[in-house]
Amino acid sequence: MKFIILLITFVGIHSLKTVLKFGGSSIKDIVRINNVGEIIVNELEKGNKPLLVFSAIDDTTNRLLKAGKESVKNDNFDIHDIKSKHYEIIFHCNDKKLEKKVEQYFNEIENILSGINLIDDFSSKTKDKLVSYGERLSVRIISSYLNKNFGLDCKYFDSWNIGLETIHDNKINNEVFNEDSSKVLELNQNVNYYLNKDKIPIITGYICKNAGGKITTLGRGGSDLTATFIGGVINADQIQVWKDVDGLMTSDPRKVKNVLPVPEVTYEEARELAHFGAKILHPISMQPASKYNIPVLIKNSYNRSHPGTIILKDRKNKNLVTAITSKGNIILIDIISTRMVNQFGFLSKVFKIFEEFETSIDVIASSEISISLTLDKNNLDNKLIEKLNEIACVNVNLSYSIISLISDVSKSTKVIGEIFQKLSENNINVDMISQGASKNNISIIVKSEHENDALNLIHDIFFKN
Ligand code: ASP
Ligand code: MG
Repeated sequence: MKFIILLITFVGIHSLKTVLKFGGSSIKDIVRINNVGEIIVNELEKGNKPLLVFSAIDDTTNRLLKAGKESVKNDNFDIHDIKSKHYEIIFHCNDKKLEKKVEQYFNEIENILSGINLIDDFSSKTKDKLVSYGERLSVRIISSYLNKNFGLDCKYFDSWNIGLETIHDNKINNEVFNEDSSKVLELNQNVNYYLNKDKIPIITGYICKNAGGKITTLGRGGSDLTATFIGGVINADQIQVWKDVDGLMTSDPRKVKNVLPVPEVTYEEARELAHFGAKILHPISMQPASKYNIPVLIKNSYNRSHPGTIILKDRKNKNLVTAITSKGNIILIDIISTRMVNQFGFLSKVFKIFEEFETSIDVIASSEISISLTLDKNNLDNKLIEKLNEIACVNVNLSYSIISLISDVSKSTKVIGEIFQKLSENNINVDMISQGASKNNISIIVKSEHENDALNLIHDIFFKN
């Protein structure tokens, strides 16, 4: 008896709370879901208490959005491909209740699509409602599959049924989770209740509801945020984000030869990377992890033995540069004040206009009478330029790219020196440079035609195989 109690205490001490998030391609079919099953079993064998967050199966979100868009114009939309993907998995569940629910959901999806066709409108509310079926289906199906085929004790939840709620954040114009203490307490209590009973909660990523009960979404790739938020609130020991790549790389392998894996980055660096073009993480998903200081491990579900990337508060490795990203389709705007003296307030007038148009600026350099800044081409509004023209001379330059070095800015003199030397040897002009606004980012602007060459040349300086 004493031995058993001792053993339980021992296991108790070492049992870690882990949140595991699986993206669509990690659960796209039976083979991949079996692989997820093995990952969970492995987690349980270590004595850990896992909680799972799932995206929609494969590219269901894209397919639903496509069906919605097409339904505006024609009434013979086809969701056959979505259905068959789901039914292939359900076939192995032997679960009548599940089959009924899934049938009901597919009927609802078809009704929504007919509704879109009838009223010729695909509003953002309808969009959220339509795509929400992706995650609602995936948690139900995969939970049933894992229980049946792996003997697990999973319990699925729509995020709003376990204590999550979204509010609209005007500053970033995005839905975020409500962090009111009562909501946080509710989530914490619910999750711990099930973990203490040795159940494995499986929660829908990306989708939620607001206080009014309307379905909301967190923006594409938003299940990362669901996972980090829950991980933060329940004070998890680790958040694992399972993807189809080996974690973060020193650059984009489609653009750069000889990229290397990045074993460690800080929350700040990961945030910058997400913002400046590395599409691997949802841009605001690092916030809860960093607020609650929970390590985030990015792993490849297709290559489980690869160590992946760990994201932490501080990293041991003190490389000069951690990674390099690039982003094309950038517009460079020069704004020069027309009056050369007493320029008080010039900067503020310019920024007021950007605020009025809710346009966010990526990189900026300024003097008393002039400002150069960059915008994403998609954010360019001619009315904004007209407004700027009323107070300044404005030059709009198209076809630029930003190259961002995630780097320790305190060593920037060395970094910038090396970049400029290499680029000038190769006749590539740097049109603008920005550093210091963030402690981790040095950005340069070059013409898009030089983007790839510049990226490769810079990568070669800092990362040698
Ligand atoms: N299924 C959603 C998407 O494809 C959310 C996610 O994958 O994180 O964006
Ligand atoms: Mg997805």
